[in-house]
Amino acid sequence: MSDLDSPPAAVITGASSGIGAATARALSSHGYRVALLARRVDRLQQLAAELGDTAVAIAADVTDRDALLVAADQVQQQLGGADVLVNNAGVMLLGPFGTEQRAEARRMVEVNLLGAMTATEVFLPQLRDGGGDLVNISSVAGRTARAGNAAYAATKWGMNGWSEALRQELQPDIRVIVIEPGAVATELTDHITHPSVKQNTEQFYAQLAITAEDVADVIAFAVTRPRRMTLNEILLRPTAQPG
Ligand code: NDP
Repeated sequence: MSDLDSPPAAVITGASSGIGAATARALSSHGYRVALLARRVDRLQQLAAELGDTAVAIAADVTDRDALLVAADQVQQQLGGADVLVNNAGVMLLGPFGTEQRAEARRMVEVNLLGAMTATEVFLPQLRDGGGDLVNISSVAGRTARAGNAAYAATKWGMNGWSEALRQELQPDIRVIVIEPGAVATELTDHITHPSVKQNTEQFYAQLAITAEDVADVIAFAVTRPRRMTLNEILLRPTAQPG
C-alpha cells in the first residue's frame, strides 16, 4: 500500500483498451494514481500521457510471472505499492468446443484465470500492507453458460469461485469485488476467429452493448465506498440483454 499521505494507487491489467482503459480514466478522475499494465505498451504510454504524471505505463503479459514481478517492483518503487488491483486482462475467443479451438481454450484459461491468479499472488503483499481492494472482472458468463462459450464461461465461473474463496480468506483486510458485465462495446469481439460465431456476436453487440465507461463508473463507485462495506458482486447487463 502507498504512503498514507499520498493518493491511493491502482494497478489495472489490460489497461490498453476497453474496460481497463476506461477504468484507468475513471479512477484517475477520482484521484487515484494508476499503473497501466498490458502488452501493447504504445497504447499504455499514450493513455499515461493523457492522464498525466500520476500514471505509469508498464509492459506486462499476465501469463508471464517474471514480467509481473518486475511490474510489482516498479509499482513499489514509483507508487509506493498498490492499494487496488483490477484483474481485467482477458480474451473471449468464442467457438464450439473441440480440437480446432484447443489452443484458444487454453489461452483463455491462461490469460483470464491463471493470469488473474498470478497477478493477485504477485501483488498480494502490497495489497495486504495496510488493506486494499481486489477487483476481479468476471462476466455474465461467470453466472450463465450457453453453447459456444464453454471455455470462456469456465474461466469466468472459475474466477467467481476463486473470488468467493478469497472473499472469505482476505476480508476484512482486503475487500474482494467481482464485476460481472454483460455485453460491452470494446475490442473483445475483434479477436474471435470462428467466422459465424464472430459475426453473430458482433451483431448481438451492435444491437445493445453498453460502453466501457458505464462499467468503469461502477468499478470506481465500488472502490470508493467506505471501507466498512464491500460490494462483493455486481452483475450489470445492458437493459436490453435477455440472458
Ligand atoms: P478489450 O479487448 O478491449 O481489452 C482486453 C485487455 O486485455 C486489453 O487491454 C489487452 O491488452 C489485455 N490483454 C489480453 N491478453 C493479455 C495478456 N496476456 N496480458 C496482459 N494483458 C492482456 O476487451 P474488454 O475491455 O471488453 O475486456 C476486459 C475484461 O472485461 C476481460 O476480462 C473480459 O472478459 C471482461 N468482460 C468484457 C465484456 C464485454 O462484453 N466487452 C463483458 C464481460 C466481461 P494487450 O492486448 O495490449 O495486452
